[in-house]
Amino acid sequence: MHQSSGNLLLGLNFQELSSLVQRHKQPDYRARQLFEAIYTQRQDELERISTLPQTFRGVLRDEGVKIGVPQIQKSFPSVDGTIRYLIAMADGETVETVWMPEGDGGEEADGSEAGDEMSDTGFDRATICVSSQVGCAVNCQFCLTAQLGVKRNLSAGEIVGQVIAVLNDRRVDMERQRINIVFMGMGEPFLNYPEFMKAVHLLVEGVGFSESRMTVSTSGIVPRIHDFGTETVRPKLAISLNAPNDQLRERIMPLNRKWNLEMLIQAARDFPLRNRERITFEYVLLRDVNDHPEHARQVIELLRGIRCKVNLIALNPGPGISFATPDQERVHAFQQVLMAGGIPAFIRRPRGLDIYAACGQLKRTVA
Ligand code: SAH
Ligand code: SF4
Repeated sequence: MHQSSGNLLLGLNFQELSSLVQRHKQPDYRARQLFEAIYTQRQDELERISTLPQTFRGVLRDEGVKIGVPQIQKSFPSVDGTIRYLIAMADGETVETVWMPEGDGGEEADGSEAGDEMSDTGFDRATICVSSQVGCAVNCQFCLTAQLGVKRNLSAGEIVGQVIAVLNDRRVDMERQRINIVFMGMGEPFLNYPEFMKAVHLLVEGVGFSESRMTVSTSGIVPRIHDFGTETVRPKLAISLNAPNDQLRERIMPLNRKWNLEMLIQAARDFPLRNRERITFEYVLLRDVNDHPEHARQVIELLRGIRCKVNLIALNPGPGISFATPDQERVHAFQQVLMAGGIPAFIRRPRGLDIYAACGQLKRTVA
């Protein structure tokens, strides 16, 4: 945890708020009031928590206690409705968070609910893509975030804080709108596992998300996939596969040298799925590198027997990325091979390409 998060309330769970309340010799129910004000009502100023007595608010203020919702520094709206937010933490470090409205009746941003739950309700639907670290250490060769390296982990409060900042900016009513969260922004969530899981609990127990509306994506941190399977409350799992054999995967994802495909696929096979749940495998298509129909056939063999689906993403290009985007036909052909092999496969349309908000483009671009 970094220095300035010491007196922020955002990120404290119910138990931690209870001890704070006890330290101040306040009645126990104040912890519940604080928890609801911070997470359910999404207050951003201590002064406005009217359920708390003025005196208690005053004491907290004098101690320098703040709620600590991170600040939206800049927002970049796309022509497609996507908004990329540059969000500043208390120490001035910034990350990116992306708002993706659905609205077109198409598949959800992570493709996971396609066909399952089409909007029969007329509710507004949107997906928030959240960052878990400042930068990323994993060094995938096709990803712009990798170029930043990793500066630090985000705390649970900073992860939840991104969601709250965006929900407040969009004036979301959690009772009336269907919002999904994907942990697919900057960073590798499973290299920040405890804080990521703490954030998940706060989002479920406090903010009002259900675990089935959240998806976490990992590049393949195998031991944490095992841990994740034992969690009682957890988002759905997505795995960035991106290549059908070790030789190719090592070349584009150096972490494959540590956890190879055999280990990764075994972890996926062992993963305890809930009713009707599937694992999502993400596959970034790089022209003439991993987009051959033969690669699709290898993917079928690899995933045989796993209850899963594949999300195909044509590379979103960027400066310093030495791969090219395959043609549409190539992407469709790859999808066709997978489908013919019995694997549900979806093509993810890029969101917010014009504002550098699409997959793999998050690198704090400010223009
Ligand atoms: N670090 C985690 C979570 C980030 S999700 C992970 O890698 O899984 C980011 C997703 O975008 C991953 O599936 C990744 O493979 C994909 N991606 C990265 N760079 C991309 C690019 N340039 N174009 C398209 N997809 C990309
Ligand atoms: Fe990190 Fe994911 Fe980008 Fe790989 S794809 S560098 S794991 S953010």
